[in-house]
Amino acid sequence: MKPTQLKSLQSKSKQLEVRMIYPERQGEPFRAVVESNEPLSHTVTIRFHPDGGIETECTCAWAQHGGVGCSHVMAVLNRLAARKHSSLSFWATPEEARKQKRRVFKLTRARGRESLWVTSRRPV
Ligand SMILES: [Zn+2]
Repeated sequence: MKPTQLKSLQSKSKQLEVRMIYPERQGEPFRAVVESNEPLSHTVTIRFHPDGGIETECTCAWAQHGGVGCSHVMAVLNRLAARKHSSLSFWATPEEARKQKRRVFKLTRARGRESLWVTSRRPV
């Protein structure tokens, strides 16, 4: 499953509160607890692969049912990008992502088959 409303999902993700748990050693995944106004908070795990692949896990129902790119994962990726003063956009197809002429990352759910594409941009 892929989200259909990527833009609104992304703006929703910016309302979420993210508590990062940074890896102690290089090569370990980033983890975060994401709070929303839902009763449960969710735990996100993110692994960055050298080939530009981003592998994600989230404890929310969407991700547990095979969905890629929930608002919690977006919130954590946005937080990590903000540390490098860049901002992210999410795309449903590689064609859309490549049109941005930015660096393109492939976002996949761990053990999932579907992908989203992410581009990063530094603010001017
Ligand atoms: Zn989630």
